[in-house]
Amino acid sequence: MDRVNTMIDLTAYPRVALGHLPTPLEPLPRLSATLGGPEIWIKRDDCTGLAGGGNKTRKLEFLMGDALNRVAESVITVGALQSNHVRQTAAAAARLGLHCEVVLTDKVDHREDAYRTSGNVLLDDLLGAYVHVVKDGAASDAKVAEVRERLRAENRPPYVVPIGGSNWVGAIGYVNCADEIEAQARQLDLRFDLIVHASSSAGTQSGLLAGLQALRSRTQVLGVNVDSKDPAPLVTRIETLTGALTGRLGAPEVAVERIRINSDYIGSGYGQPTPEMVEAVRMVSEFEGILLDPVYTGKAMSALIGLIRTGGLDSRTRRVLFLHTGGYPGLFAYTEALRTGR
Ligand SMILES: *Cc1c(COP(=O)(O)O)cnc(C)c1O
Repeated sequence: MDRVNTMIDLTAYPRVALGHLPTPLEPLPRLSATLGGPEIWIKRDDCTGLAGGGNKTRKLEFLMGDALNRVAESVITVGALQSNHVRQTAAAAARLGLHCEVVLTDKVDHREDAYRTSGNVLLDDLLGAYVHVVKDGAASDAKVAEVRERLRAENRPPYVVPIGGSNWVGAIGYVNCADEIEAQARQLDLRFDLIVHASSSAGTQSGLLAGLQALRSRTQVLGVNVDSKDPAPLVTRIETLTGALTGRLGAPEVAVERIRINSDYIGSGYGQPTPEMVEAVRMVSEFEGILLDPVYTGKAMSALIGLIRTGGLDSRTRRVLFLHTGGYPGLFAYTEALRTGR
C-alpha cells in the first residue's frame, strides 16, 4: 500500500500496529452509474487485515497500545452475539499473546441457527477467546465484573475494552482515519462533500468529526443509526467523545449541527434485517464485487441508496465517500434472510 502524508500528530498516544494501513480508497463506478446520483467512492476499512478486518482494528491499535502501556496481561470485552468488535478484539489479543474473555449478549431476536453458531461467534472461538453468553445488559455487566475479579485474583491484570471500543482512546483510530482520507483525497486531487457510514457506539463518527475538525475540513459526516430510531442517545455520546478528542487535539469544538444522524433505515431494530438492507447488500455485491454486512454496512448503504433515490441528499452533494466499516462474517449468520431463491 502506498504511504500517505498525514497531518495530525498522534505520536503522544501509545499504539500497536495491527492494521494494514492505509486502506484503499476507490471509486464505485457501476454503482454510481446505476443510481444516477452523486459520484460514490468507498473507503475500504473492511480491508484492515485483522482476522476479517473492519473498523474496530483502528480503534484497537490505540486501545491495545493503552493496555500494553498499563501492563495488562488479559483483555475483556463485550458485544452482541454477532459482534465484529469482539471478533477483532479476540484477534488483537491473540496477536499480542494476551488472554481474552468476551461476554456476548444474546439480545437479537433472530431465529436462524446460523446466528448462534456461525459468522463472528464461530470466529471468536477459533481466535481462542473464552466466550460467555448472557441474556441482557445487566447480566453482561455482572459477568464482566466477575471475570475481572477472577483475572485479578489469578494475577493476570485485565484491561476492559468498552462496547465497540468506543471511548476517546479507541476513537483516536478514527481521527487517524479522517487524516488518511484527507491525505488520499489530496493525492487524488478531489474533495468529498459527504462521508456516509454505519454508526452505533459513536467512536467512528466522533473520531471522524474530530479529525476533520482538526484539519479544518468542510466534508460533512452522516452517521446511519443502526441501533435505535431515536438519535438522541447517539448524539449525546458523540458530543461527549468529540469534546474529549478536540480538547486533546487542540482543535475547535465540533458544532452540534455537524453531528448528523439518519435513523430512518433501521427497520424493526438492531440486527433485524430489512428488505432495503438485503437489496443494498446484493447491489454492492453484484455491481462492484464488494461484500457488505447485514447489521451495519448493509443498512448504511440502504440509507445512501434511499436518500439518492428520494432526493434526500443536499443537491450540492457531488461526491460521496461510503466508509466500509467491515462485518462480512455476519453474512454467514443471516443466510436465510439474504437468500433470494434465484
Ligand atoms: C462496530 C461497527 C460499526 C459501528 O461503529 P461505531 O464506532 O460503533 O459507531 C459499523 N460497522 C461495523 C461493521 C461494525 O462492526
